[in-house]
Amino acid sequence: MQSEQLVRELKKILSPDKVLYEKLDLLSYSYDSSFKARNNRYIPDAVVLPTSTQEVSEVMKFAYKHEIPVTPRGAGSGETCGALAVKGGIVMDLAAWDTIEEVDTENMQVQLRPGVVHAKLNEHLAQYGLFFPPDPGSSKMCTVGGMVANNSSGLRAVKYGTTEQYVLGLEVVLPDGKVITTGGVKSRAIKNVSGMNLTKLFIGSEGTLGVVTKIRLRLWPKPKARGILMAVYDDLENAPKTVLDVYKSGILPSGIEILDSSAIKAVNEYKPEINLPDAEAILLFELDGNPASVEWEGNEVARIAKNRAIKVEWSTDPKRMAELWQGRSVTATAAARVRPDGSRVFAGEDISVPLNKVTESLRRIKEIGKKYGIGVVNYGHIGDGNVHTAPVINPEDSAEVELANKLVDEIHRTAIELGGSTTGEHGIGAVRSQYAREEHGEALDVMYIIKKALDPKGIMNPGKLLPEREEQ
Ligand SMILES: Cc1cc2nc3c(=O)[nH]c(=O)nc-3n(C[C@H](O)[C@H](O)[C@H](O)COP(=O)(O)OP(=O)(O)OC[C@H]3O[C@@H](n4cnc5c(N)ncnc54)[C@H](O)[C@@H]3O)c2cc1C
Repeated sequence: MQSEQLVRELKKILSPDKVLYEKLDLLSYSYDSSFKARNNRYIPDAVVLPTSTQEVSEVMKFAYKHEIPVTPRGAGSGETCGALAVKGGIVMDLAAWDTIEEVDTENMQVQLRPGVVHAKLNEHLAQYGLFFPPDPGSSKMCTVGGMVANNSSGLRAVKYGTTEQYVLGLEVVLPDGKVITTGGVKSRAIKNVSGMNLTKLFIGSEGTLGVVTKIRLRLWPKPKARGILMAVYDDLENAPKTVLDVYKSGILPSGIEILDSSAIKAVNEYKPEINLPDAEAILLFELDGNPASVEWEGNEVARIAKNRAIKVEWSTDPKRMAELWQGRSVTATAAARVRPDGSRVFAGEDISVPLNKVTESLRRIKEIGKKYGIGVVNYGHIGDGNVHTAPVINPEDSAEVELANKLVDEIHRTAIELGGSTTGEHGIGAVRSQYAREEHGEALDVMYIIKKALDPKGIMNPGKLLPEREEQ
């Protein structure tokens, strides 16, 4: 269908102000935070801004009938081109549909629409002493709909897990416009094993199976106390050993972060006043809970860490905690500035490896960087093996871009070889599906079957998650 006709038809379904088609508007939907989007523009034919299930359903029925691709979009903070119309068609922007419909304090749950921004949800829940624990670094911009679609999490996944642990049910508009409720149409139950777990099928499916239009989340009581411990190492090997020592002692910190020597150097160059100790690695433990248990656990972790670290500091004083955490909080920005003419490549940035392979993965990434002559800054969530790598190149130099692509490919393959995964948080989108067969084997064929059953015309976010050649 020609773009002009598409826009005319969409304006019959939605009010005209909910259909965008001007060049400049479309251009602002042509990128996300990925490296691939930096060098490629994916401009949709039209953008729609529905704010009701009925509107989403009508758009889907129309798109299904005419076989027009539809790409759901939250805040566009994804790192994988997930929310980009790589096959053209319609982008469905759900960010403006941001109603928190009900906080059910007696049942410790909340019902909301997909565009609610993560940080705003937790700000709202604070008055009830409740919170939604997953904590992506993009909290101030990403939507809960995007988090469900990507099964997002953050540094506190060590203790609190990922989004999937909190989703009790969803309303989903299927590619043909049909509306379903998962988790039970009347249910407010927290435990529920009735029927096939369709909720989990949609979580992490990256908008390829339907549009999430309502979300029911389980909430947790907000911890009343917090403490930070920093441990400094002159031998990288000792950092993961400490992590294991702490787990063996029966303590589960809410977060355990690592900065290796490359990240320490980057932070000190970016903000010399932070003055991190010159070392092979720094670990940061976050402990939370009630004040007495946090105090006891912090002292215990400090005692354990002293066995292997050259320096340990523990604090529950808010000012000192902020200072101890400062290095970690600027790492991503510092990584992007290690070269005056450089820019961080957001690709291969998110591998996940078994706990006992973290050190090996960090060493191997360093070697791969040397092989291609590209500086790589390493940091990440060591508590669950999620390693963040930040190659820094001049993105205007095509030779460097080509080398970076090779480097990133080797990083992904290293993760699989070490028994891990190509992505622990950011997902597959249009940038990692080439590893799907290697990662999933015959299970990939089952994914194709599910995709075909729910989206027989292949209109729902095509070109994502599944390798394209095999998709149809
Ligand atoms: C600085 C920065 C830090 C980040 N830190 C983290 C982190 O710590 N942990 C982490 O997990 N991620 C992180 N991310 C990645 C990203 O923010 C998350 O994946 C986030 O959940 C995406 O939400 P979004 O609203 O921006 O979704 P978008 O980027 O708009 O979309 C992401 C995917 O979800 C689909 N989608 C969106 N809404 C819906 C819906 N309602 N129904 C169906 N499909 C939908 C899209 O089609 C797309 O495939 C970070 C990104 C940045 C830029």
